[in-house]
Amino acid sequence: MDHVVLTGDRPTGPLHLGHYFGSLASRVALQGTCPMYVLVADYQVITDRDVPGAIQANITALLLDYLAVGLDPAKVTIFQHSAVPELNQLLLPFLSLVSVAELRRNPTVKDEIAHSSQQAVSGLMFTYPVHQAADILFCKGTLVPVGRDQLPHLEVTRMVARRFNERYGPVFPLPEAMLGESPLLRGLDGGKMSKSRGNAIALSATPDETAALIRKARTDSERLITFDEAARPEVANLLTLAGLCLGRAPQDVAVEIGDGGAVALKKVVTEAVNEFLRPIRARRAALTETDVRAVLREGNERARERAVITLEEVRDAMGF
Ligand code: ATP
Ligand code: MG
Repeated sequence: MDHVVLTGDRPTGPLHLGHYFGSLASRVALQGTCPMYVLVADYQVITDRDVPGAIQANITALLLDYLAVGLDPAKVTIFQHSAVPELNQLLLPFLSLVSVAELRRNPTVKDEIAHSSQQAVSGLMFTYPVHQAADILFCKGTLVPVGRDQLPHLEVTRMVARRFNERYGPVFPLPEAMLGESPLLRGLDGGKMSKSRGNAIALSATPDETAALIRKARTDSERLITFDEAARPEVANLLTLAGLCLGRAPQDVAVEIGDGGAVALKKVVTEAVNEFLRPIRARRAALTETDVRAVLREGNERARERAVITLEEVRDAMGF
């Protein structure tokens, strides 16, 4: 089957290494082989906070991240939610296809509620996985490169597509998730590396910022460095980071460090990350804000053309 790829990110802050190894690397590898849509999920910023915050600056930064890692706007349609009304309109029929109990059961939503700073949990927090179904299905996406936290949402999308097809006739494909090399990269505190949790190494971090972040990471006092995820999760996590950046197994990195202790470990990790980020930094330095705005304008137009067609099909199928 010829795939259509859809994936995206919330403009809530700079992308980090978790994004890279969870999803961005797959996008770069797939681009040009099939149609690909990359979504700046701006409406979803307000799922877990009251206001969108520095949304314009965050959108620009996200676009710079995309182009810096090598996404090519000639091969990929990069667009934003708020510019494609027809996509958002799909939410309405889709919401009618899921039960409140199903929305409540979603484990990723539960985890995000636990980490949210909001006083009251909004309705959008429970329904955004259905909004994501609209994101994926507006372009009849079949392959979705994501991190592990997104798997429950993919199930919601498949359920929505299946039920729509059963009720109204075959309109949508059942999309599949594509997990990256590291579907759940942990941050410097051991939890999921996350923009909003202050534990991430941003792709835009300078060499000094990167070194400072890694210096603060927790380790233990044993001299001999070994890769043991259960007994030494912090050390294992740093070895994983270095291994991903070096394209090597974390166990081999550990053997090489030997009995150098935390100081040697952090030195290796810092050098590996900085070396990995070097070409990304170089590409970013050559980009301007005007470049990224033009990319988004064009992507928004293309995405909207696609969404109009799908919404028309949906209305027809439903008999409106
Ligand atoms: P926020 O904290 O604002 O939710 P986030 O860091 O979770 O930010 P998202 O924009 O929610 O980032 O996620 C974008 C994509 O990156 C998703 O596909 C998600 O699965 C993936 N991703 C995010 N964090 C990680 C991680 N630590 N490891 C692997 N993949 C990740
Ligand atoms: Mg998230």
